[in-house]
Amino acid sequence: MKVMAINAGSSSLKFQLLEMPSEIVLASGVVERIGLDDAVFNIKYSDKKVKEVCEIKTHKVAVDMLLSKLVDLNILGSLDEIEAIGHRVVHGGEKFSDSVIITDEVLKAIDEVSELAPLHNPANLTGIEAFKTALPNVEAVAVFDTAFHQTMEPLSYMYSVPYDWYTKYGVRKYGFHGTSHKYVSLRAAHMLGKKPEEVKIIVAHIGNGASLCAIDKGKSIDTSMGFTPLAGIAMGTRSGDIDPAIVQFISQKENKSLDEVIDELNKKSGYLGLSELSSDSRDLWTAANKGDEKSILAVEKQAKMIADYIGAYFLALNGCDAICFTAGIGENAWETRKLVIDRLGAIGVVLDYEENLKRGDERVISAKESKIKLLLIPTNEEVMIARDAVRLIK
Ligand code: ADP
Repeated sequence: MKVMAINAGSSSLKFQLLEMPSEIVLASGVVERIGLDDAVFNIKYSDKKVKEVCEIKTHKVAVDMLLSKLVDLNILGSLDEIEAIGHRVVHGGEKFSDSVIITDEVLKAIDEVSELAPLHNPANLTGIEAFKTALPNVEAVAVFDTAFHQTMEPLSYMYSVPYDWYTKYGVRKYGFHGTSHKYVSLRAAHMLGKKPEEVKIIVAHIGNGASLCAIDKGKSIDTSMGFTPLAGIAMGTRSGDIDPAIVQFISQKENKSLDEVIDELNKKSGYLGLSELSSDSRDLWTAANKGDEKSILAVEKQAKMIADYIGAYFLALNGCDAICFTAGIGENAWETRKLVIDRLGAIGVVLDYEENLKRGDERVISAKESKIKLLLIPTNEEVMIARDAVRLIK
């Protein structure tokens, strides 16, 4: 069974075509700069790569181009071979605690929670609509970033604010990256030789966006992102947790609207804000290794925030079996892993410094004497999307 896994952003469309249940990737790629004259279409298949720069005005055009390429490049004999489509949807609010088959009602519900994710849900919907038009007879599934965290108890998801903010407006912690946290925690249980119901896991998903998750017996019990992805640890351009009074203070001092200040917390803070150099971990480590003090502060601040969350989740879980590192930085930046892990000695964690230097592959990076296993697990959200599409459409 061939399944498409789709992640549509406001000007991009990431795709993977998978053979299921073997989970073999037949093709993958991304269309970027949708809406512009010089959009870029990239596709990888077998050991080949194709790149085209051309005008791609809408997501619909991008989808049509992708589908005709799949046939033209002989990746598919015909489009009829695509039996299911899985779409990543960022926000499912409280309505969705699992993936669902997309119906008109589901589309309406996704649209209704757009208020909570104005940058993401409308873009996700554009991708869904484009495929619906191009392949009207193929069933599609929505896979929500928030769904995995719907198992949190009120003690974790409620903020200590007037209660009717929650009842009137849905102000609560939702959490994001759920598909990645779930995938990594399943792999972690597998690596420990146990069932997911038998283990307590902490996952650190550290990419451009970053969040931690405490997982008890396969269920998310707490996570560091909140009502929006701005909360939690410092990220590429997001501040993570700050005192909310700063927003009003800066708004007055700099004569900026609340929207402008929040925009700076989303787009000009984190690595970029502290280093005044870059939002990219590679740039910061290059500068930090040359002694750039602001870059050192930026990477150390993030590492401290990650370690602090791990400490809190170790207590919330009442101990844990494994701490996992995933996503762009978690998988590749050994320096950041080292900074974080060196702060965790008090809970009996010991790093194998040699293993930590290696990149990429799934493996154990803790020393034998470590009381908690440290695992490096490359995330794979596309596989989770395809698995859910198969599970629901079968
Ligand atoms: P997102 O999906 O949230 O956009 P990614 O998971 O792709 O983000 O992570 C992007 C981050 O990973 C960037 O900060 C990038 O510098 C970092 N990264 C990728 N490869 C490496 C590497 N080899 N060494 C250090 N950092 C890396």
